[in-house]
Amino acid sequence: MAETDTSTGGKPALPMQGVPQPARDEVLGLPRVHISTHPVMAHKMTALRDKNTPPPEFYRLVKEIGALLAYEATANLALEPVAIQTPLEPMVGQRLAGGIGVTPILRAGLGLAEAFREVIPDVQIWHLGLRRDENTLQAMEYYNQLPHRVDLQVCYAVDPMLATGGSAIDAINILKRRGIPRLSYVGIIAAPYGLLKLSQTHPDIDIYIAALDESLNDRGYIMPGLGDAGDRQFGTF
Ligand code: URA
Repeated sequence: MAETDTSTGGKPALPMQGVPQPARDEVLGLPRVHISTHPVMAHKMTALRDKNTPPPEFYRLVKEIGALLAYEATANLALEPVAIQTPLEPMVGQRLAGGIGVTPILRAGLGLAEAFREVIPDVQIWHLGLRRDENTLQAMEYYNQLPHRVDLQVCYAVDPMLATGGSAIDAINILKRRGIPRLSYVGIIAAPYGLLKLSQTHPDIDIYIAALDESLNDRGYIMPGLGDAGDRQFGTF
């Protein structure tokens, strides 16, 4: 529960008000954290952040950025040999070994999940609904479509904004209980606070992001950020 602030007439205090946050430099060297350095990514990120970018263009950019992240995050996937016939002769090619899962944290993660599906069409999409309470910033599960049968080599939890880290940590906890051998988190922008929390709570996962921003504001929004990633994708202002 957020503390009640008597100076605000009994309303809950803003959830990140007065909460100490690490500086950007302090989290830059965290193990297993991959921050894109690709110039095309930086170019697309500027268009994404721009407040004049309308929802259809914003959603298209989320998918393009998501595809670049998907290539980076899948660079170390296991392969297995497969015999094929080219038009000229037989050869042994390679294919991805085992299933690949993507868990979009609803609803903002949907664009990134779609991007993964465009890169690897046979990914399994495991929907997970986590809503954050605006006062406490705690994540609450309201929807879970995780299958009973698990045949994945890896699952990527995807959510564009790693702010306080609450939803990402909860999603990884839920996926860990399903016994998936390898888990990663893929996001677009992280705040140092959430990145440190996720990395410390789950040091055994890889974290892929397009940008690391400066801080969270008192309401828990990433600064400079891009605003509300769900509203901007789906036009709900
Ligand atoms: N979620 C968002 O959509 N934006 C933020 O800045 C933080 C969380």
